[in-house]
Amino acid sequence: MGKNECPNLHPQSMCPAFGGLRVLTRIEGATVCLVGDQGCLYGLTFVSHFYAARRSIVAPELMNVQISGGTMIDDVRATIKKIAEDPAVTFIPVVSTCVAETAGIAEELLPEKVGNAVVQLVRLPAFQIKSHPEAKDVAASALLGRFADFDGPKREKSLLVVGEIFPVDAMAIGGVLQRIGVQSVIAVPAADLEDYAEAGKVQACALLHPFYERTASLLEEKGVRIVSGNPVGAGAIAGWIERIGEALELDVETVRKVAAEEKEKAAEVIGKFGNLSGKVIVAGYEGNELPVVRLLLEAGLEVPYASTSIARTALGEEDHRLLSMLGTEIRYRKYLEEDMRAVLEYEPDLVIGTTSLDSFAKERGIPAIYYTNNISSRPVFFAAGAGTVLGMVAGLLGRKDVFRKMKEYFTTLP
Ligand code: SF4
Repeated sequence: MGKNECPNLHPQSMCPAFGGLRVLTRIEGATVCLVGDQGCLYGLTFVSHFYAARRSIVAPELMNVQISGGTMIDDVRATIKKIAEDPAVTFIPVVSTCVAETAGIAEELLPEKVGNAVVQLVRLPAFQIKSHPEAKDVAASALLGRFADFDGPKREKSLLVVGEIFPVDAMAIGGVLQRIGVQSVIAVPAADLEDYAEAGKVQACALLHPFYERTASLLEEKGVRIVSGNPVGAGAIAGWIERIGEALELDVETVRKVAAEEKEKAAEVIGKFGNLSGKVIVAGYEGNELPVVRLLLEAGLEVPYASTSIARTALGEEDHRLLSMLGTEIRYRKYLEEDMRAVLEYEPDLVIGTTSLDSFAKERGIPAIYYTNNISSRPVFFAAGAGTVLGMVAGLLGRKDVFRKMKEYFTTLP
């Protein structure tokens, strides 16, 4: 592949329904009824077990004969009834996927409740929702729209935190929020439908990832103040803490003190990696790549190119402006081919990318790791997160020679 050859053929995202299933299958008492074709069912059963909540999903048999024969809605209703026979099932999300007939399933023909179980339609067709992170937003906002109690009294100094994060990050956030005087915190996506109900009573919401746009507009409509951004990197940490303090009208002195302390701790950790130098390309598809780029830039690394599967959003605008100003070329809704061209053009020392991009980089003797497994599965927030991410990157940059030797070895084999 030359620098200007191959056209953009492969958009990068997992099936969007998978993102929704990650949110829906983790709810206690939920059994998903999937309304898609057999291909969707095969793939989504696999990923639900492997990457979501290890739960089975149930589906009516929808082959061409049922889809075109006019019995589909009856088959779906019968499946919902069958699922509801289990008294342990309290929630049946009905997930419709790409096939035109299933995507357009009539909500009014579905029951609202069967036996013990509340029924909720969530439409997740890939032709409309273009990436799996954005499908998490669709699922979360559907759940909040249906279950959140927006009409009751608000809880004093209460915050909703939205975003799937590593457990250690959740603990770190909880600790900092407590120190600045936040009295109650609800986290979504949640395992308990009750948390979605309670989420309606908060005064403000911290949206940790920029793709929660539907959730943001729903909450704003209901009078909840939105705080965007996240505590990644020394500069952003202080600003994030202060914005939460402002949104909840917390004690200004306490907030400033905690913000300064956390900023200093992170700056110290980043400072310890003072010798870091190298060119890194960040090309994940999780929608949370730009804060990681911000951290790498703060540590002195060069990031000439970053890409993600999600669209450019107002919630991510601050990062977009900062990173563009610092010289990072950013691609939204990226294609694999764009990422590959970036590898050829910028000749990075490290690629943190998708599996297909990583293979492409490794074939060229460039160290490469899978963004999802290596970034989304470790802490990134506050000082601890900075230490973990930069430690990993420093280690990989240090092993650059190993990749070069490996390439030499394989290319010189008879
Ligand atoms: S057809 Fe659509 S819903 Fe089904 S697996 Fe493919 S992208 Fe996912």
